[in-house]
Amino acid sequence: MNIHEYQAKELLAKFGVPVPAGFAALSVEEAVEASKKLPGPLYVVKAQIHAGGRGKGKFKELGPDAKGGVRLARTEEEVRAAAADMLGNTLVTVQTGEAGKQVNRLYVTDGVDIDKEFYLALLVNRATGRISMVASTEGGMDIEEVAHSTPEKIHTIDIDPATGFMPHHGRSVAAALELTGDLAKQAAFTASKLYDAFLGTDAAQIEVNPLAVTGDGKLMVLDAKVGFDSNAMFRHKNLAELRDETEEDPMELEASKYDLAYIKLDGDIGCMVNGAGLAMATMDIIKLNGMFPANFLDVGGGANKEKVTAAFKIILSDPAVKGILVNIFGGIMRCDIIADGIVAAAKEVNLSVPLVVRLEGTNVQQGKDILANSGLPIVAANDLGDAAQKIVAEVKQVA
Ligand code: ADP
Ligand code: MG
Repeated sequence: MNIHEYQAKELLAKFGVPVPAGFAALSVEEAVEASKKLPGPLYVVKAQIHAGGRGKGKFKELGPDAKGGVRLARTEEEVRAAAADMLGNTLVTVQTGEAGKQVNRLYVTDGVDIDKEFYLALLVNRATGRISMVASTEGGMDIEEVAHSTPEKIHTIDIDPATGFMPHHGRSVAAALELTGDLAKQAAFTASKLYDAFLGTDAAQIEVNPLAVTGDGKLMVLDAKVGFDSNAMFRHKNLAELRDETEEDPMELEASKYDLAYIKLDGDIGCMVNGAGLAMATMDIIKLNGMFPANFLDVGGGANKEKVTAAFKIILSDPAVKGILVNIFGGIMRCDIIADGIVAAAKEVNLSVPLVVRLEGTNVQQGKDILANSGLPIVAANDLGDAAQKIVAEVKQVA
């Protein structure tokens, strides 16, 4: 689960991380009011969307010469104009994809006199099984590009969970950022507070870009992207409230309500499978037969009829889907339950695309009978290879 920059900064501030003052705003008036509460003389009005690259982004409605989603303002009128320009419009950045994202919230924050920009991120390093800090002097810009062209400028510091964050970790971060004296102390302090925040919130990622040195020698977090481990959210009811569902893919959101693992993909064949491994194999075999999956969908081991129906509806609500392949191995999950769900959903949604079903396992014969007697044009398949060939052939025939 990801949150907005202003939420991330409020959270990090609670852990003692230095951030500039700022206020969220949902309207132009609120943005102006927010700026009045700040000391000035420089304000920054920032679009709040779950994507980076806002500064260099472009608004669809404003044409190529308009400024992006991070704007400096010196007067009330400039704050007003920036807010009016952004709210309700669609910001396209390198991270949003072509469709862009509508800006519904703003953050009005203190404008900082920047001397230098750094990069500092915390993440779970799967290779070492530890929390890693990734530090670079090359902040403010595209870190993927830095990693690609000058990998020596990226430093990774692993933290042993047995010791936690130690003073030497702080010194390593400061050294990676090539800081000395008081700024080195500030870097070590900020890194330790970010580590506390990471642990304290069960974060999956905290990315600070830029971490800036100000003209008067202060180190501050100017942009923060924070994401949490969804599996730990039950421990953080207060954090769950920060979720902004308008930022999420509507189909993935619907799937999450039914505890379905669903990821939208670019192909034509909708897949409903139980088990992540079988789902991956199903996607592979669709590709092997010359077409592409429209989604990954794992209904899980203990799905009921309601869940299967929901899964089916989600797949069918995707206009890109030209055919559906259901591939279920009934272990804990019984094939007759799956068949009931498929029939119920297909009748409810008025099935308009070819459907191939491969069932195997517990109560497979009952399941096949339910499908055969349903009166629906369901194509039965015997095994995975057969199923993939049949759905591809069916879809090509319709096209
Ligand atoms: P994004 O990464 O989405 O483009 P940032 O918050 O990193 O958004 O802003 C882009 C750039 O704008 C920063 O690299 C920094 O140079 C400038 N900036 C951001 N916040 C402030 C601020 N509070 N004061 C001054 N400049 C800022
Ligand atoms: Mg940034």
